[in-house]
Amino acid sequence: MKKFEELGLNESLLRAIGDLGFETPSEVQEKAIPLLLEKDTDIVALAQTGTGKTAAFGFPLIQKIDADNRNTQALILSPTRELCLQITNEIKLYSKYIKSLHTVAVYGGASITEQAREVKRGAQIIVATPGRMQDMINRGLVDISKIDFCVLDEADEMLNMGFYEDIVSILSTTPDEKCTWLFSATMPQEVARIAKEFMRKPLEITVGHKNSGSSTVSHEFYMVNARDRYEALKRLADANPDIFSVIFCRTKRDTQVVADKLIEDGYNAAALHGDLSQAQRDSVMKSFRNRQIQMLVATDVAARGIDVDNVTHVINYQLPDDIETYNHRSGRTGRAGKLGTSIVIITKSEIRKISAIEKVIKQKFEEKTIPSGIEICEIQLFHLANKIKDVEVDHGIDSYLPAIYEVLKDLSKEELIKKMVSVEFNRFINYYKKNRDLTAQTAGKDRKDASGFSSDGGAVRYFINIGSRDDFDWMTLKDFLRDTLGLGRDDVFKVDVKEGFSFFNTDAEHANAVLDTLNSMHLEGRRINVEISKNDGGSNNRRRDHNNRGGRRSESFGGGNKGGGRKEGSFERSSRRGEGREGRKGSGDRRPRRG
Ligand code: ADP
Ligand code: MG
Repeated sequence: MKKFEELGLNESLLRAIGDLGFETPSEVQEKAIPLLLEKDTDIVALAQTGTGKTAAFGFPLIQKIDADNRNTQALILSPTRELCLQITNEIKLYSKYIKSLHTVAVYGGASITEQAREVKRGAQIIVATPGRMQDMINRGLVDISKIDFCVLDEADEMLNMGFYEDIVSILSTTPDEKCTWLFSATMPQEVARIAKEFMRKPLEITVGHKNSGSSTVSHEFYMVNARDRYEALKRLADANPDIFSVIFCRTKRDTQVVADKLIEDGYNAAALHGDLSQAQRDSVMKSFRNRQIQMLVATDVAARGIDVDNVTHVINYQLPDDIETYNHRSGRTGRAGKLGTSIVIITKSEIRKISAIEKVIKQKFEEKTIPSGIEICEIQLFHLANKIKDVEVDHGIDSYLPAIYEVLKDLSKEELIKKMVSVEFNRFINYYKKNRDLTAQTAGKDRKDASGFSSDGGAVRYFINIGSRDDFDWMTLKDFLRDTLGLGRDDVFKVDVKEGFSFFNTDAEHANAVLDTLNSMHLEGRRINVEISKNDGGSNNRRRDHNNRGGRRSESFGGGNKGGGRKEGSFERSSRRGEGREGRKGSGDRRPRRG
C-alpha cells in the first residue's frame, strides 16, 4: 500500500489531506491519482460507493487546475443535489490551502441568479446537477466552452435518473480536447455508451468490492407514525438494556433535541455534533468509550471518526439522504468480527427507501414491531434479576449492613426479592401501563404492496398560496411547514415550489390539522390559503423504477417519490433531486382557482 506522499500530490494538497485525517489512499485513489496527474487522458473508473472516488478525481483535478486563471476549467456532473453539495464541500476542503481556487455548486431548488453570480465571480470548478446545468447553459449564464476537464460522477446513477440527454447536450458545448473522467459503481450499457461516444480511448480502472455492507450487521426497520419516533426510540432502548449505540439524526438541532430528551428521561445519552467545541466532543467521546454513555446521538459528520468497537446498535432515528451515508452509519457496528444491528425507524411515506437500500447493500431488512409495554417489562425484569445476581459487591457498604439487616429483618427471602425488584421496576410498570401499540398499522400491508404505498390515498396533496416569490425554495418551505405543523422531518413531502404558489403532500391523517393550522395563519400580512389539490402528485401511483429499465442502483432518495404518474413523474423526478427546472413547465399540477 502506498502513501499519499508517493502519489505525486503537491504540498498544499498533502497538508489538506493531513487535516482531513486521511492516512492511506484507498485503492481507487492509489490507482487513479498518479495516472491522472501524469497523463492527460480520459478514464473510466469503476468502484463501489464509499471507496473514496471524490478524492480520486478531486485531488488530481485540483492539482491540474490553474488557480491563477479565473476561467471555468472543470465541470463535475453529479446526479443529485445532495451529492453535488457533498462533492463541493469535499473539493473545498481539499483545496483549502489554495486561496484563489473557487468551487461553485450549481443545482436546482435554489436561486439560479445567485448561482450564476457566484460563477461569474470566477469559479474554476463547477459542480452541477445536469438539469440545472442545462438551464444555466440555455440562459447563457455559464461558459464551459473552455474547460479542460469534465468529471461524470456516479455516471450510472445519473443515467438511471434519465439524464442521458442532458449529459449529451451539456457535453456538446464543451471542447473536444478536454479530458473526461467517468466514475461509476457499475457499468450498465448506458454508461458504456457514453464512454464509447464521448470519450477518447479511456483508460480503465476497476477496484474490487469494498463497501457493500458488512455481513456482521443485520438490518431491521420499525414503522411508526411520525409523532411516535421518539417514543419508539425509547422503547427500543428499554427493550435492549445493554444497548451501546450510536443514534443518527439528520441535523445538529434534531441531534441535540433527541439527546436532551433522552437525558431528561433518565438515559445515559449525549449529543455529538459540530456545534460542540473540540473539548466538548473529546469529552463526549471519552465517556462513550468508557461506556458511561450508552446512547450517543450524532450527526453524520460528527460520527465520521467514531472507531469504537462493540457498538451493539446503530439507530437511524431519521434516514440519511443517501444510501452511502446509510452504509457509513451501519458500519459503526458489527466491527472487529462482532455482530451488530442497524435499526431504522421509519414512517409510512419512507418505506420505498428500505427497498432502495436493500438493493445496494444486497441484504434484506427484517421488519419488526416496536416491543409492547409488557414485553419491555419482561425484558427489564429479567435483566434486573440477572443484574442483581451478577453485581459485584463493593465492600464499602459492609459497615452499613448491620443497620440495613435490622430494617429488613422481618421480610422473607421472597418478599425481599419482590420488593427489591419493584424498587427498580415500578418506573417501567408505571410508564408502560398505557401500553399503546406504536407500530404503524399498515406496515406489513404496505411492505407487500408492490407499489410501496397503500392505494387508499395514503397521501394528500395541497395547494398553498406561497412560493418562491415569498423567498421559499422546496427545502425552506418544507422546513417551514414541518415546523409550523409540528410534524416530523419526513411528514411533509413532494414539496414543489412555484413562483406564487406551491404544492406539497402529507399523509392523509394530517389533513385536518394542515388545513386548520395553515388557513388561520398570515404570512407578512397576507392570509395563507391552503386547499386540497385535485392533483395527487402521483401519490397513488408510486411504482418504483418507473422510468428505468432494470438494474437500478438507487443511490439517493430525496423528499419525493420515485416515478409516479407520467406528467407529474417527470416533474417530480426533478423536484426530488432539487432540480426545479425553471423555465420548463412540465408539471401536471393544475392551479386551483383562488378566491
Ligand atoms: P465514493 O464517492 O466512492 O462513494 P467518497 O468519495 O464519498 O466515496 O468517500 C467516502 C468517505 O470516505 C468520505 O467520508 C471521505 O471523506 C472518506 N475518505 C475518502 N478517502 C479516504 C481516505 N483515503 N482515508 C480515509 N477516509 C477517506
Ligand atoms: Mg461519490
